Amino acid sequence: MEIVVSGIRPTGNLHLGNYFGAIRNFLRLQEEYNCFFFIADWHSLTTHPKPGDITANVRKILAEYLACGIDPEKAAIYVQSDVKEVLELYLYLNMNAYLGELERVTSFKEKARTQPDNVNAGLLTYPTLMAADVIVHKAVKVPVGKDQEQNMEMLRKFARRFNTIYGVDYFPEPASYSFAGEATKVPGLDGSGKMGKSEGNAIYLADDPDTIRKKVMKAVTDSGPTVPDSPKPEAIENLFTLLKIVSSADTYNYFNDRYNTCAIRYGDLKKQLAEDIVAFTSPIREKILGVVSDTVYMDRVAATGAERARESAARTIREVREIIGFRG
Ligand code: ADP
Repeated sequence: MEIVVSGIRPTGNLHLGNYFGAIRNFLRLQEEYNCFFFIADWHSLTTHPKPGDITANVRKILAEYLACGIDPEKAAIYVQSDVKEVLELYLYLNMNAYLGELERVTSFKEKARTQPDNVNAGLLTYPTLMAADVIVHKAVKVPVGKDQEQNMEMLRKFARRFNTIYGVDYFPEPASYSFAGEATKVPGLDGSGKMGKSEGNAIYLADDPDTIRKKVMKAVTDSGPTVPDSPKPEAIENLFTLLKIVSSADTYNYFNDRYNTCAIRYGDLKKQLAEDIVAFTSPIREKILGVVSDTVYMDRVAATGAERARESAARTIREVREIIGFRG
């Protein structure tokens, strides 16, 4: 069966961007593929060198994975740091990754700008660790959001390069997978850019209804169109994108018509958007609250997932050692 791998860092709760960019794809893929979904705790050290209570953060994401419907009977759900085999592949990939190409990665440049006092080697080699996570299982598909495109290109390059250097056809080149073939970028509520945990513009799956309403009502808008059928400024387009994601087509069309006829009232749009988000997240939130206290269950899920992931990764490492020329 073809293999799928993806992970999310435990640096905060899951938000709508994570759900529609990643988790929704996980749910679809677990039905048909051999899936490995992990919690990228090592990766979080690139930006959070002392990530507080790492166990609690990992459990939080695990509870959210499960509440969203990721099924441990179907997919291996594991914690990155439980599968040490990945580190060996990370080392081999790093030996064939070059400073120039790593420095050119946009997310590296962005992080280097936002944390100038901590431009660490882990940050620089984020793409090789990500590549190791994925190709250690010889994955063919990676469900990630649009923001990960460049990292995916790097990942394919490292897989290809390994094959070329050692003269083998060993690692497949994994493709990005998106729901309905179109990568989703969920916008934030602050008028520009994507929704993200570090951006402070996110709605979390675990947010209670009042928090969601308050956040949506505060979303950036403008004074409204004065000319019919005028193009939408980014902040407004973002609200419509959110409507498209969580609301019915009728609702979207209704507000779109109101916009095009200059009769829009952003307050009404936001109220509707907030209610539609609440309707979407409430059942997930309830499940999170149900799962999060069951640490015994979560630990069992993580242990079973780690065992499956280790088995798959160990096989690859044995073969990779042989290919590179290390003694078994
Ligand atoms: P990490 O730090 O683990 O990359 P992110 O929250 O940035 O955490 O991303 C985790 C996953 O969620 C990735 O697959 C990413 O593509 C997806 N994702 C994050 N934010 C968005 C967004 N605003 N729109 C679409 N996908 C997103």
